[in-house]
Amino acid sequence: MLLDIDRFKQINDTRGHATGDILLQQVAERLAATLRATDTIARLGGDEFTVLVENATTIDEISTIADKIKNAFATPFETESGEVFTTTSVGITIFPFDDHDRDELLKNADVAMYHAKQERNNWQLYRADMNVNTEDRLGMEVELRRALERNEFQLYFQPQIAVKTGKFIGMEALLRWDSKALGRVSPAEFIPIAEDSGLIVPIGEWILRAAAEQCKAWERAGLSPFTVSVNISAPQFRRSNLLQVVSTVLTQCHLDARWLGLEITESSIMKHAEQTIQTLIDLRELGVAIAIDDFGTGYSSLSYLKRFPVNKIKVDQSFVRDISSDPNDAAIVSAVVAMSKQLGIKTIAEGVETAEQLAFLSRLECDEYQGYYFSKPIPAAEVAPLILSHQLKTTSA
Ligand SMILES: [Mg+2]
Repeated sequence: MLLDIDRFKQINDTRGHATGDILLQQVAERLAATLRATDTIARLGGDEFTVLVENATTIDEISTIADKIKNAFATPFETESGEVFTTTSVGITIFPFDDHDRDELLKNADVAMYHAKQERNNWQLYRADMNVNTEDRLGMEVELRRALERNEFQLYFQPQIAVKTGKFIGMEALLRWDSKALGRVSPAEFIPIAEDSGLIVPIGEWILRAAAEQCKAWERAGLSPFTVSVNISAPQFRRSNLLQVVSTVLTQCHLDARWLGLEITESSIMKHAEQTIQTLIDLRELGVAIAIDDFGTGYSSLSYLKRFPVNKIKVDQSFVRDISSDPNDAAIVSAVVAMSKQLGIKTIAEGVETAEQLAFLSRLECDEYQGYYFSKPIPAAEVAPLILSHQLKTTSA
């Protein structure tokens, strides 16, 4: 049986880690008091407990034990910060009935627990068809839920360069996930799952904080300060506390707001344009720079664009790719750059891979670019050497 404490993260966040720790201890005590001396209880990590029930011979017997575990959470837990109410979700797999090997036990209990978690405060027996329909997605979501506490995320940084001067002006922070169980998973695969499950919110906060800390570390190391831009997902942008989260992170990291940029996609800005404007104004007042990401791929209202307090428009790479060969793409980029200039908004082209594309962007007077032509996204440790050698090159040239 794999148990997960419902809403544990929330309890930890709102009541403090000391309360969370006491809760874990009390859960362990209640489990020990509930189960038989022959059963084994282990805490695997985080808020997950594993229970090994031996010599149970009938499903009835197992369901009785599972009910007892569930009931052990019925009364509130006493902590220093007052009573805590919570429940548990339990996934159960049976060996050898389910005809899988021992290594699969935990994985299957995990899948069952995930299903239990959908309703909370209940238990689920593993069924093979839980895997058939949903294994990849569920498996990934299960792993994604743990990725934060297991420290499996990392930020990579892609430099952004001024077209005219060739000077380095900032970076976009990009999320990488090296999952212990799944290996490296591409953002295109896991970001949609993170968005659907709501996990993107805590992950997005992690990204903001990690980017701000890294930016501050570079500043302290004496690299001239530059902007680090973070992608804000649509669910994160829609939440009312984004301003609060951003300002807290800045304060805690002692980072001046002007070194933080937020990239928000065109579609998430335009979706609820009226409500969006105030959020953008508040963020701008805080001092952070705002870029509209993937510009040109969604529906944009030009009249809104005029009212949005944005600093920069990111021209989507789909227009940049064939800019030097496709007259339509060239016309679109040219129009976006010209319009932005009129509105006092900077433009940055993404996905620049060749000298030819860059020359074209330069003719169009696009302000900035990023892409493999200058550098692919690199780990934080490689940033300082890259900047220093680039600075040497541009000053000696
Ligand atoms: Mg982006």
